[in-house]
Amino acid sequence: MSAQDKLLMEKLRLAKDGSPGTATILALGDGSPRTATIRVQPDSGNVFEATIELLKGYHLEVGQSVRVRFNPAHHSKVVLLNMAAAGGLWHVATHCPDCGAPVDMATATVAAHPVCAYCRQPIPCDPA
Ligand SMILES: [Zn+2]
Repeated sequence: MSAQDKLLMEKLRLAKDGSPGTATILALGDGSPRTATIRVQPDSGNVFEATIELLKGYHLEVGQSVRVRFNPAHHSKVVLLNMAAAGGLWHVATHCPDCGAPVDMATATVAAHPVCAYCRQPIPCDPA
């Protein structure tokens, strides 16, 4: 499993099981991987700041508020939830059933209607 896959799996787990809160984007890094410095206001608990790695596909602006889930034991572990899909994330197939292409989980799990990036067919998904 590649480092990127591991990061994705970790974020998917966190999106499902983490504690809820709201993050404000304080600063965006230009490096690779891209990073964001965020201030997190947990739904219950104290504000903390963290720097997180951004997956490809996220478009963020400084000052923006984003719903997040985080690991209360490790405040560096924060995952951003998608604002457009406020109802929740998807559990999606890892490969397209039509063309077999690997699915970009970072995009598909938060898309309004996940589709394959290659053949544009819908990807099977269940609400998270
Ligand atoms: Zn496909």
